[in-house]
Amino acid sequence: MTLYRASVLDVPGDPFADDPGQALRAELDGGLLVRAERIVARGAYQELRREHGGEEVVDLRGGVLLPGFVDTHVHFPQIRAIGGLGMPLLDWLQRCALPEEERLAERSYAEAVAGEFLAGLSSAGTTTALVFGSHFADAMDALFTAAATSGLRITAGQVLSDRVLPPSLLTTAGRGLAEGRALMQRWHGHGRLRYAVTPRFSLSASEPLLEVCEELLAEPGTWFTTHINENTAEVDQVATYFPARAHYLDTYSHHNLITDRSVLAHNVHATDQELEVMAAAGAWAAHCPTSNAALGSGLFPLRRHLRYGVGVALGSDVGGGTGFSLLKEGLQAYFGQQLLGPAGQPLGPAHLLYLSTRAGALALGMAEEVGDLSVGKAFDAVWLRPPARSTLDIVLDHAADAPDMVAKIFALGTPADVAGVWVGGQRLTPPQDNPSASTHSRPQEAA
Ligand SMILES: [Zn+2]
Repeated sequence: MTLYRASVLDVPGDPFADDPGQALRAELDGGLLVRAERIVARGAYQELRREHGGEEVVDLRGGVLLPGFVDTHVHFPQIRAIGGLGMPLLDWLQRCALPEEERLAERSYAEAVAGEFLAGLSSAGTTTALVFGSHFADAMDALFTAAATSGLRITAGQVLSDRVLPPSLLTTAGRGLAEGRALMQRWHGHGRLRYAVTPRFSLSASEPLLEVCEELLAEPGTWFTTHINENTAEVDQVATYFPARAHYLDTYSHHNLITDRSVLAHNVHATDQELEVMAAAGAWAAHCPTSNAALGSGLFPLRRHLRYGVGVALGSDVGGGTGFSLLKEGLQAYFGQQLLGPAGQPLGPAHLLYLSTRAGALALGMAEEVGDLSVGKAFDAVWLRPPARSTLDIVLDHAADAPDMVAKIFALGTPADVAGVWVGGQRLTPPQDNPSASTHSRPQEAA
């Protein structure tokens, strides 16, 4: 067994339902005793040390230990497209995202991107993710192959579209079903991997393709994810493609795709009716704050989601979002709610930590396993230890209490502060230099 000594901070309950002042659990000189992959004891370090004197001690003082982050919406093929600023959604897809996604038709390209993508997640402290995949089955096989050795908990699936997008990204109902089944058979339930049925959005999915999604989702333990209500132009276009449906959500629920295994990205422009249906089904929203701001999609109606009882977790939405860090997403979520004024949901430190950890675990049906650092949970953790005398290091030294520490971490923390990441009790090795990644010439070098 291993005894970890650290300032341990987590949110085992729901700060939106409970007293937010009590929701943050903190052990500033805490101990976590880990056997194999699980936490078997937790408490004050000195007490655990007395009871388990013979165990190896890993000293993680001089920083904080948080549950590993859970990213509920992040696109595997878009890491190289991060930073396309100044466009609304449909233009951005056309000019930035889709041309890059077409390049994943080539297996070797997809393999390089898969390595970069998984390293991006882990180096930001993300240990569990619901990953929006590629349109190409072979690229998905490359992702799952790399994910299987990464140690990360990845739920992902092939993206399905059969209209509107560039021809190379389109499939047919028959091919989508066959490729989805083959991928599922190979990877669903393999180690920490699961399959997610993933139509891109109903704008690019015909009724027969949505029927295929329903068929694929019949496999036990699979998840469902897609986009919804991100941008008003997209919402209007979906309405013209589906005149018989009551609302955008109905394009999915008509095919029985909205259940407690569904995570819907964005939902910025949700109607009350849609929120009612989501709540009744137990479906979750993946809120992607930096993406919503970068693409000018709008400010997320968090308070309305909560009022209807719809669960909300965070997604980085790389590459519409501006990076893998869920600390940045948490901060941007806070900004967005502040800007909404009285319609906004005030977010404190416990809310931000909850949204980036336990809420995601709940959305993915994994809260029995991960999301907080309780006894019985897997030891999935991120150790944030800012460089000495960095601004975060200085303000943490002067934090008033545990909530203040968490607020400062969300205000200032970046992937550069991630000093260690564990999944299932195993420490992940930092990403190695990938020589193939540096062979391309940067624009200034080529000029
Ligand atoms: Zn997305």
